[in-house]
Amino acid sequence: MKIFESHAHLNFEHFDKDREELLQKCKKLGIERIINVGVDKKSISCSLQLAEKFDMIYAAVGFHPHDAKEYDREFLLTSAKNKNVVAIGECGLDYYRNLSPRDIQRRVFSDQIKIAIDLKLPLIVHDRDAHDECFELLEEQNPASVVFHCFSGDELFAEKVLSKGWKISFTGTITYKNNLLENVVRTVPDDMFFIETDSPYLTPVPNRGKRNSPLNLRYIIEKISEIKRISPNKVAELSYNNAMDFFF
Ligand SMILES: [Zn+2]
Repeated sequence: MKIFESHAHLNFEHFDKDREELLQKCKKLGIERIINVGVDKKSISCSLQLAEKFDMIYAAVGFHPHDAKEYDREFLLTSAKNKNVVAIGECGLDYYRNLSPRDIQRRVFSDQIKIAIDLKLPLIVHDRDAHDECFELLEEQNPASVVFHCFSGDELFAEKVLSKGWKISFTGTITYKNNLLENVVRTVPDDMFFIETDSPYLTPVPNRGKRNSPLNLRYIIEKISEIKRISPNKVAELSYNNAMDFFF
């Protein structure tokens, strides 16, 4: 089984004690590529270092809505030109925690959409409790390659996103009780989704409460397989191919 991890934060201190060992285990499990996602200045630099050091790691660079108030356009532009960068993000709107003021979140998101278009890079979108505004800001500039990471909308919103040709990606949240994503997973076309862990966060069942790592992708694959009634191998293959098309 060839597996693509489309969103992780392996530069975080949670992995300082066993990063190399973990990546060895990932390789053994068939995890061939990992997108390590920067969220602020420090983690963008760390992502670039990781991508330089490990063949299997590529970098995405962006300012998370939580960190929008520290946005540095020149720093992002310079970082985005590094040869190992395959996407802008994660960026977007987080109206759940509101760690940066909403008007700043919007302005910083719009500017990163523009940068992604100018540099012809795909965009990784973080949308929490801000579906309509995320969609509107994206539509204003209409980038071609967008993924709604850790998709959390309903079927109707998924239809809207998919109608633009934009992708959605699933995390361990699809394994949680009472999540509302089952219909989205069931109906998403085979060529429009991929998978991610968002490690160290969002650990899937049955490992909830522990640190998340790409090793848990299997539980996300199994859940999609169960809902879509296709084999786990097929889920991994579709997700791998879709992510390859999107990022490379
Ligand atoms: Zn993330």
